[in-house]
Parts: sequence; C-alpha cells; structure tokens
Amino acid sequence: MSQKHSPRIRADWQALADELSFETGAFIDGEFVAAASGDTFESRNPATGELLGQVASCTEADAERAVTVARDAFQRGEWSRLAPGKRKRTLLQLADLMEANKQELALIDTLDMGKPITSSLSDMAGAIACLRYQAECIDKLYGEVAPTGEETLALVLREPIGVVAAIVPWNFPLMMTAWKIAPALAAGNSVILKPSEKSPLSALRLAQLAQEAGIPRGVFQVLPGFGHVVGRALGLSMQVDCISFTGSTAVGKQLMQYAGQSNLKRVYLECGGKSPNIVFADCKEIDKVAGHAAAAIFYNQGEVCIAGSRLLVENSIRETFVEKVLTAAEGMQPGDPLDPDSFMGAMVDETQYQRVLGYIRQGVEEGARLRSGGQALEGPGLFIPPTVFDNVTPAMSIAREEIFGPVLTVFGFDTEEEAVAMANDTPYGLAAGLWSQDIDRIMRVTRGLESGQVYVNNWAGGDQTMPFGGVKQSGNGRDKSPHSLAEYTQLKSVWMSLQ
Ligand code: NAD
Repeated sequence: MSQKHSPRIRADWQALADELSFETGAFIDGEFVAAASGDTFESRNPATGELLGQVASCTEADAERAVTVARDAFQRGEWSRLAPGKRKRTLLQLADLMEANKQELALIDTLDMGKPITSSLSDMAGAIACLRYQAECIDKLYGEVAPTGEETLALVLREPIGVVAAIVPWNFPLMMTAWKIAPALAAGNSVILKPSEKSPLSALRLAQLAQEAGIPRGVFQVLPGFGHVVGRALGLSMQVDCISFTGSTAVGKQLMQYAGQSNLKRVYLECGGKSPNIVFADCKEIDKVAGHAAAAIFYNQGEVCIAGSRLLVENSIRETFVEKVLTAAEGMQPGDPLDPDSFMGAMVDETQYQRVLGYIRQGVEEGARLRSGGQALEGPGLFIPPTVFDNVTPAMSIAREEIFGPVLTVFGFDTEEEAVAMANDTPYGLAAGLWSQDIDRIMRVTRGLESGQVYVNNWAGGDQTMPFGGVKQSGNGRDKSPHSLAEYTQLKSVWMSLQ
C-alpha cells in the first residue's frame, strides 16, 4: 500500500482502504498457515457490515504447536541470550517499520473494530512509542551484587521468564499489543500473541513487520481465534510460563484458575473498570472540565477500560455542570470512522451493540433520568450516540457494572468524604479523576481513592514513563515503564563461595 501522502479527508482514507489486502493466516514458526482444523471465522467492518476476511480460527492443536516452537526458540537462545543491546536494535527497527506503515496499521484497526481513524492514528503513536521506550530500557537494566562479606560473591541476575502468552482485547488492538509484547520481547522472552477475535487483523500485519525487522523465527507468533478455545489452551498449557492479559475481569478470573490447574504460571491481569470522575465546586474553568468529563466517557465510543463512566458532581454546581456536559456531548456524535472529523465511531460488533442498548433500557427501567442519547442511530452500521443518565443511584446496574459503551452515569454529593466513599464503592479500581484547586483536598482525596491511576485536573494523563494498571478487581499487572519490563524477567540469586 502506498503511503507517500498523508491522507487528510475521508475519500483519501477510503482510497487507501480499497487498496488494502489482509493477512488472515495464523503466524506460527515464521510462516502464515491455516489453523490445524482448517476452521476460520469472519472479520467484518462494524461500520458497514463489509466482510474483511476469513481468519484462521486456532484451536488447542495450534496452541500446542506454537508453544513447542516458542520453547525451542527460547532454548536455542538466538533471542533470549542475545546481548540486550542487539535485541534493542531489532526492536527499534520494528518500531521504525511500524512508523513507516502507521497509516496502514491505523486503517486496519479502524476497519476491523470501528474506531475513528484519528483515534487509531493516536493508538499507533502510542504503540510505537512503547516499543521504542522498552527497547531503550533493556540495555540499562542492571543486575545486583548483594552486600555480603569478601568470602562470597552474591549476584542477583535478571533473566527472561521463557514463553509469554499475551492475550489482548479489541478496544485498542495494536496499542494493547505493544504494551505487552514490547517489554516481553525486550526482556528476551518468546512471545505468543492471541489477539481478540473481534480485531485480529493488525496483529497479523505486525507479525509480517516483526519478521522483516529480524525477530528470529518462533520468537514472535500470532494465534488468532476464540478466547474460550485457543486462549484457554494457552492458559492451561504446562509450557507457557507467563500469561499477560488485558480484558474483562471475568476472563481474568478464569486465567488465574487455569494457572492453578496447570503450572502456576505467572498471570498479569489488566481488567475492567467503572471509574469515578469527581468534580468539586471549586474546580477551575467549569466549561473545560465539562468538556473533559464528556470526552472521558465518549472517547473511543466509551469502549475504554479507564472510561470515566461515573461522574460525581458536587450538588451545589450539579445542574449547571450537567447542562455543560450535555452541550459537550452534543458535539461528540458518532460518525463514519474513516472521516477524520468523527469523534466517535461504530460499536465493535452486534453483541457489544446489543449489550450497551440493553444497559440503556435497564437504566430507564430502573428509574434513572435519561438526559441525552439512548436510541441507536439508523443503520447501516452499529452506532450509539452519547447517552447521559442523571439521578443515578448506587444500586442501579448502570452504576455498578462496566457497560463499555458511550453511557455516562451522573451522581451528586455534598461532602468530600461522601464523594470518596461513593468513588470507592465498586469492585473495580482502575482509574479515578478529581477536579479541584485546593491542594490539601487534592492530596487527601488522592490518598483515599482505591485506584491504580489518579488523574488530577485532567483525565487519562500519562506517558511511557508511568506504569499503568489497576487495583482490586481491575487487576494486578502494570503495563508501560520499567515496572512493566521487570514483570517479564525473573530473579536468579547466585551465591558464590570464594577462597
Ligand atoms: P474479554 O475478556 O472478553 O477478552 C479479552 C481477550 O481474552 C480476548 O482476546 C479473548 O479472546 C480472550 N478470552 C476470552 N475468553 C477467554 C478464556 N476463557 N481464556 C483465555 N482467553 C480468553 O474482553 P474484551 O471484550 O476483549 O475487552 C473488553 C474488556 O477489556 C473490558 O472489561 C475492558 O475494561 C478491558 N480492558 C482493560 C484494559 C486495562 O488496561 N485494564 C485495557 C483495555 C481493555
């Protein structure tokens, strides 16, 4: 695909899309192959219903083969024992190839899962930055010499773990992938990637680029297919040493069980959320805060783990603030994902679309006040407008469950203590935000929030230097930063007796 000119308008993106062809085989042992069973599943564009391809549907047999290949590659040491600086060069080469092909990669994600092209481009920037950051870290990670007596030399070595299976979701297909594979590969592991069955295509294009960059055969493999089949097989494998997972809390719990039923593999989980966004009456520039509060839930159609889905507003400004959020939401209507001006795109598939509409119906039935949206747009395409419910009470299902769609629930509070208690009244603990100008309050509330991320006077801030992950049932792992790299290594303590 030609990438000489940067597309600017919808027609340009459509022209690029018309030229695209997709790899649909599984990538095992350096080759694209059909699934052992010969089965395939459909990949469709949710904005148009168009069939993009029939993708290899891997099963236990493919998982077994890929795991054996990955283990052999690890034992051979071509990658696992390569000097870190050399692994770094290869990963930087992969990042350069992704950069050179970023329009195509972004377009694939947009076509495959319906997000606006501008969001996909921003995901690519994040994915590439992650690869570069982790590549740069690996030759700066030192082992230790323990402070023992002179008769001993005690070393703490950091080594790769072995075979890492990365199981990722569909909402940021390539960016979530990069957050896993960049540190896992940098550390010297063999990696098997299981993309979501709802967005497998960019992972397969990535496999081509990884091969072109020089990642040795068997070190990076991609198994498209269904979670309960091939994902489960990886979870139960005796030869997988680590599962790094991003997805729902329910599947995260299953993966921990698989580890217990098999080889006690490490299981790093980045799971769901129901994140509170707390607006105090003393916040600065209320119009801007309202705009951020709307974007916090409606970005990426609300299909975001850290979506600010629970808006907690101090009652003294609540009426005014909600009006401003509604105005901001009005400007965030879904549109053609190929149009660079669309803020929201299509829901990923019929199941997710019906699930979100089901929650909206439940919200109405439970007595919440529907202030905007609530009805799907006329087809074709799976579009749901920004939907805002006010007068939500904590017991309602829309207040408790992760909807993973463009549905905002609004609550009022009178005191700081009440706000923190409401914010923490959830099994999740992924992200939380607060808007205030009082530094003492900011620090009190920040410490009180049970959350992996706290955003103060912003939403979703962070870069590669910051770890990302949850507490409580939002998971236990950390993506990004040197903390993430450390998760893909294990310590070996060496006690040497000297004469
Ligand atoms: P999901 O849990 O349904 O699927 C995630 C991945 O797990 C997919 O690849 C799927 O095929 C696989 N899977 C499903 N069942 C499996 C099984 N039994 N064994 C092994 N693998 C299995 O989640 P989803 O719908 O793809 O993504 C949405 C969820 O992801 C939301 O809950 C969202 O909050 C979460 N998420 C979390 C983060 C984070 O960083 N915390 C980021 C993005 C998304």
